[in-house]
Amino acid sequence: MTNKSLKNFNSLRFEYSCESLYEVKSYEDLYQISKKIRKSKNRFWILGEGTNVVILNNLEGIVIKNNFLGINIMGNSVESASGENWDNLVKVCLEANLYGFENLSGIPGSVGGSPIQNIGAYGVEVSSFIDYVETMNLNTGNLEVFNLQECKFGYRESIFKKLPNHFITKIKFSLSEAFKPNLAYESIPKDIDINSGEEVRSVILKIRNDRLINPEEEPNVGSFFKNPVVSKTHLDKLLSDYSDLKFYGIKENQYKISAAWLIEKIGMKGHEDKDCGVSKKHSLVLVNSSEKSENIINLSNKIRDEIFKRFDIKLENEPTLIT
Ligand SMILES: Cc1cc2nc3c(=O)[nH]c(=O)nc-3n(C[C@H](O)[C@H](O)[C@H](O)COP(=O)(O)OP(=O)(O)OC[C@H]3O[C@@H](n4cnc5c(N)ncnc54)[C@H](O)[C@@H]3O)c2cc1C
Repeated sequence: MTNKSLKNFNSLRFEYSCESLYEVKSYEDLYQISKKIRKSKNRFWILGEGTNVVILNNLEGIVIKNNFLGINIMGNSVESASGENWDNLVKVCLEANLYGFENLSGIPGSVGGSPIQNIGAYGVEVSSFIDYVETMNLNTGNLEVFNLQECKFGYRESIFKKLPNHFITKIKFSLSEAFKPNLAYESIPKDIDINSGEEVRSVILKIRNDRLINPEEEPNVGSFFKNPVVSKTHLDKLLSDYSDLKFYGIKENQYKISAAWLIEKIGMKGHEDKDCGVSKKHSLVLVNSSEKSENIINLSNKIRDEIFKRFDIKLENEPTLIT
C-alpha cells in the first residue's frame, strides 16, 4: 500500500505517513520484502503494535508491519510467532498451567516487541524466560538465532536495539510448571490471599488499570523515560539534598533512581503543554493530542533539561524514536 497513513499504527496517534506499508504474515512474505529492500536500497522500519515508538516525521521508505501468528506449546516450552499479541500469550500460557509471565500481564504490544527493550513490570523481565530469539536479517534474507547470552539483555536494553535490520520472527520461552508467585514488588498488595496464576494476573491488571493510561483514551507510549542509574557518590549527594529520594540498589555502585519521583520533584506531574502533557495519574507517561511529534518532543526536552539542571541526571527515552 503506498503513501499510507501511520495514524492507526502508533499509540501516540501521530498522523504521519510512509511511502509503502507491507503487512507480513509468513517467512515467504518477509523474504520477498527483504529482496525488494536489497534491490531498491529503500530505507525500512519494522512495526509491531506501535506502542513503543515515537514517529518524528513522514517516513520516506517502507514500513513492515508484523502479522506473524501462531503459538506452539510443548511441555514447559512455548514457541510464539512474533506478531502475536503479548498479553494474549500471557493468557494462553496461564490457561496451559505454565507460570512466570503473570507479572507481565497487560503490557501492550506484540511478542516480537517484547525482547527489544526487554519488557519488564512488577519485578519481572521477559529475558528471564527466553531461550532464543529467531530473526530474519533483512540485509541478507537469512534466518539467524540469538541465544540468551547473545541477546545481551539489560534494563530496557537488548542487542536488537542495535540491529534494526533484524526482523524478529519467533521467540522460544521456557516457563515453569509449578506456580511460584513473585509478589515482592512494593506496589503489589501484601494483605491478599493469592493462590493461582489467574489471581496474580487479575491483581496486576487491576494495578495497571488504576495507574496507567489507556492509549485509546489518551494516546501515549507508557513510560517515556527510563529510570536513570547513578553511582554511590552521586546517590549520596542526592540524598544529602533530598532525604525522600526514591531509589533502589541494583548492583555494587549502581542505584536506580525513580524517574517518576524526579518529574514530580520538578513539579511537572499533571503539567499541561500545547496539545500534550504529563499525565496526572502517572508522571512518567506523556499524553498526546497532537497529530505531530513536535510538541511532545519539546515537552520531553523541557523535562530532561530541568532534571539535568536540578539533579545532574540525564534522562534517557524509553521508546524508540524513528525518523
Ligand atoms: C499504556 C502502555 C503501558 C506500557 N507498559 C509497559 C510496561 O509495563 N513495561 C514495559 O517494558 N513496556 C511497557 N510499554 C511499552 C510497550 O508496550 C512495549 O515496549 C512493547 O513490547 C512494544 O511492543 P510493540 O509491538 O508495540 O513494538 P513497537 O512499538 O511496534 O516497536 C518498538 C520497537 O521495536 C521494534 N520492533 C517491534 N517488533 C519487532 C520485530 N518483530 N522485529 C524487530 N524489531 C521489532 C520496532 O522497530 C521499534 O524499534 C507500555 C506501553 C504503553 C502504551
